[in-house]
Amino acid sequence: MIFGATGDLAKRKLFPSLYQLYRKGEISKNFAVIGVARRDWSHDTFKSHVKDSILTSIGKDENIDEFVSHFYYQSHDVSDSNSYVELRNLSNDLDEKYDLQGNRIFYLAMAPEFFGTITEKLKTEGLTETGGYTRLVIEKPFGHDLPSAEKLNEQIRQSFSEDQIYRIDHYLGKNMVQNIEAIRFANALFEPLWNNRYISNIQITSSETLGVEERGRYYEKSGALRDMVQNHMLQMVSLLAMEPPIKLTTDEVRSEKVKVFRAMREMTSSNVDEFFIRGQYDNGEVQGTKVAGYREEPNVDPNSNTETYVAGKVLIDNFRWAGVPFYIRTGKRMTAKATKIVVEFKEIPMNLYYHPEKPQHPNLLVIHIQPDEGVTLHLNAKKSGDKLKTTPVNLSYSNKGINGINTPEAYEKLLFDCMRGDATNFTHWDEVKLSWSFVDTISTYWESTTSKEFPNYPAGSMGPKAADELLDQDGFKWWPVDGFDVDNC
Ligand code: NAD
Repeated sequence: MIFGATGDLAKRKLFPSLYQLYRKGEISKNFAVIGVARRDWSHDTFKSHVKDSILTSIGKDENIDEFVSHFYYQSHDVSDSNSYVELRNLSNDLDEKYDLQGNRIFYLAMAPEFFGTITEKLKTEGLTETGGYTRLVIEKPFGHDLPSAEKLNEQIRQSFSEDQIYRIDHYLGKNMVQNIEAIRFANALFEPLWNNRYISNIQITSSETLGVEERGRYYEKSGALRDMVQNHMLQMVSLLAMEPPIKLTTDEVRSEKVKVFRAMREMTSSNVDEFFIRGQYDNGEVQGTKVAGYREEPNVDPNSNTETYVAGKVLIDNFRWAGVPFYIRTGKRMTAKATKIVVEFKEIPMNLYYHPEKPQHPNLLVIHIQPDEGVTLHLNAKKSGDKLKTTPVNLSYSNKGINGINTPEAYEKLLFDCMRGDATNFTHWDEVKLSWSFVDTISTYWESTTSKEFPNYPAGSMGPKAADELLDQDGFKWWPVDGFDVDNC
């Protein structure tokens, strides 16, 4: 059951992902999808909506009628108990028709304020009482701060136990984010070096060229810290920093990730300025097009104090990482759209190729998450002719190059994991709780101190100057995310 089935997420991501799973044979013919939303649609209207969204997404005409025939629609009012009774009756009929053995997934692709009511009614109206499994998939944001996340969690836990809850962080479905574990734990080359003896710093950038678009109303209350840092950025930090789990099972991986959250240097109102900086975009030019500043966007306060950019230094106070900064930055209206991780290795103890005019570059491991997918290892090799000079060389693996395989969309992987009952790539409540408590101190401090500098970076740049100073003071600099050519850095 997809709640919010007439919405944007269902159309762009969920229906096409379900179809890809079906095409690959990951979903058998024993399935049904009930679209649940407010509009007064018939089954047929919904089917043709689903068909359109899939055909638009795959970009070609394919016969998908048999697939679409499994879709049904239920017009619904979230707070009206009768709606749930009708939904239960339809579910029971379809259960019998398709021999579903009572297995049900409830996907809440709706605004979070409805989550509590829906989960409560699903239980009280008997939709969760089946002979099979019942699972709840919840979209972000999971709360607005720790108290609201706790309240929401308490509400949904009245109807679903923790192991039935799949909290989506779609970054965890991305191919190269899932590959962080493989790169680290399947290669003799990296894990022995993966610590403070050999790594000087780690940089995670997630930049967008888009502005706030139509989401001004939501974004004004959220900002980049809540929208990106609390979930995606800190999740990537935890995957990079965790200890090798004893097995790659859900519980073992989660328990190692939770330890990372617990080891993060606590923020206090007196140290936020030292570790985190915020930005808001001004008007400017993005890839040749003039664009407005954040304060001029629709539904945005002309004196807004909301950050559209965050850069921060996260310290992990444990044996492996003491002294290694994890720098994170994320923002809107930046130079390029990219998500990348750069692992910078320390200098070798004695550099025989030391050249005063041409300092040698450190070794870098770059994990390209989006839009490119791949890994690049930056090494130094000898320059022919000159005995003392080295030149940077790159070893690159790009997913695009491999037999034209299109890696599955994150939602496809996550939906498949949920159907198989594998919650490893979903966030456990403990992770959500700890990441909110980390972020809450920063947001409370920022909300209590209006930024006098806003707007402080032009659209089309890589963010405010203070973000560079954050690394400068530690003797580092941000590695570029676009057209990564170490020789020119
Ligand atoms: P949307 O506004 O496009 O769709 C909302 C859906 O909820 C519609 O189907 C609407 O009919 C339904 N709805 C609203 N009020 C209702 C009511 N009172 N009763 C019954 N149905 C009601 O939203 P969206 O962009 O699809 O996002 C849904 C959720 O997914 C949100 O939590 C959002 O934060 C999250 N999300 C969306 C995206 C995305 O790319 N769109 C990405 C990540 C997370």
